[in-house]
Amino acid sequence: MQTQLADFIKNTPEGREAEAILRSCVHCGFCTATCPTYQLLGDELDGPRGRIYLIKQVLEGHEVTEKTRLHLDRCLTCRSCESTCPSGVQYGRLVDIGRHVVEQRVPRRGADRVKRWALREFVPRGELFGSAMKAGRLVRRVLPETLREKVPPARAAGPWPSVRHARRMIALAGCAQPAMAPSINAATARVLDALEISLMEMPGAGCCGAVRFHLNDQEGGREDARRNIDAWWPAIERGEVEAIVMTASGCGVQVKDYGHLLAEDPVYAERAARIAAMTRDVSEVVAGESARLAELLKARRGETVKVAFQSPCTLQHGQRIRGVIEQLLAAAGFVLTPVRDGHLCCGSAGTYSLLQPELSHRLRENKLAALGEGGAALIASANIGCMTHLQAGTATPVRHWIELVDSRLNGFPL
Ligand code: SF4
Ligand code: SF4
Repeated sequence: MQTQLADFIKNTPEGREAEAILRSCVHCGFCTATCPTYQLLGDELDGPRGRIYLIKQVLEGHEVTEKTRLHLDRCLTCRSCESTCPSGVQYGRLVDIGRHVVEQRVPRRGADRVKRWALREFVPRGELFGSAMKAGRLVRRVLPETLREKVPPARAAGPWPSVRHARRMIALAGCAQPAMAPSINAATARVLDALEISLMEMPGAGCCGAVRFHLNDQEGGREDARRNIDAWWPAIERGEVEAIVMTASGCGVQVKDYGHLLAEDPVYAERAARIAAMTRDVSEVVAGESARLAELLKARRGETVKVAFQSPCTLQHGQRIRGVIEQLLAAAGFVLTPVRDGHLCCGSAGTYSLLQPELSHRLRENKLAALGEGGAALIASANIGCMTHLQAGTATPVRHWIELVDSRLNGFPL
């Protein structure tokens, strides 16, 4: 696509990146068919090709309006369009750049401004979020529906094995997950312990930065990344750990991008690139030990349970990990049911479910209908945001897939 960027952005790193991305789009529109918001709304400007065109206009210096911002706000950043695009257009990076400019040109007002500020300030602070979650559980019944949905009942985490193996990895605790489902990282530690890998959480690490970054506080997101790098680096430098393990695919896609986010930072660029390269989704780690896992599971097959797997967008489109978890669950003796339209977003999308509740709920209804078609007794996922969002709309238990493997391997209850 021919592009003439305006002077305000032309010679900046963001401008150069945006120009290269815009030039790679041939405007074919293949991506439109797999865009969840285009499917719901039927408006070209609520699909990737239309949004790319809007961003091009913004970066070329044309007028920016609230309507421009609305079409970008409605985008889930699910990156289904990237998976479909035959030209390799990096839409996710382009929309980050476009949104940042639009936010400055058309400042938000009133409740929208307050809501986004509150999410940026509150969600990434793990201790504050944890205290609020405890309080929220006490008054859950009287909370408004959109908040009630975000307060899952407490479930026991179970024991965390001591650090006893020569092979060691670091787990990101994150911000929301420890309060919402501490069982996920504990289950991961138990499964990896059985595979002779010790898992540790490092003090000082916290939110991966995705929350602030995607709420257009991009510098705040970078600060979160730097803090995590500082917390992890001493153990990495001493050669004590071989990987950084992500149990939420939404965090994984962000941490794997640290090298890109901090590429212009003279102090952190090198460390960020090294950390990005050693970051693994937990499915990648467990799949690397699949022979040992199969050996351990031989004697532990339980009753046949039908499971529908919801592959989060951050896993399948963001990290391009496809089919791996399904194989691991099948190896653990679960029966995977087919899921129609598995490429489509469930509507969770970080803070999207709070900012665009109507679209988000419609996407959840569609996703739960597809997940339920095979008669599954359980829904498995790989991201805490998707899990909480889906669970609020169904009585079928929704669990992280590693908890299912843990239940088979260690007998820990689901
Ligand atoms: S993003 Fe890709 S699929 Fe979509 S219009 Fe551009 S080239 Fe075509
Ligand atoms: S990221 Fe998702 S919602 Fe946004 S344009 Fe691409 S496919 Fe559509």
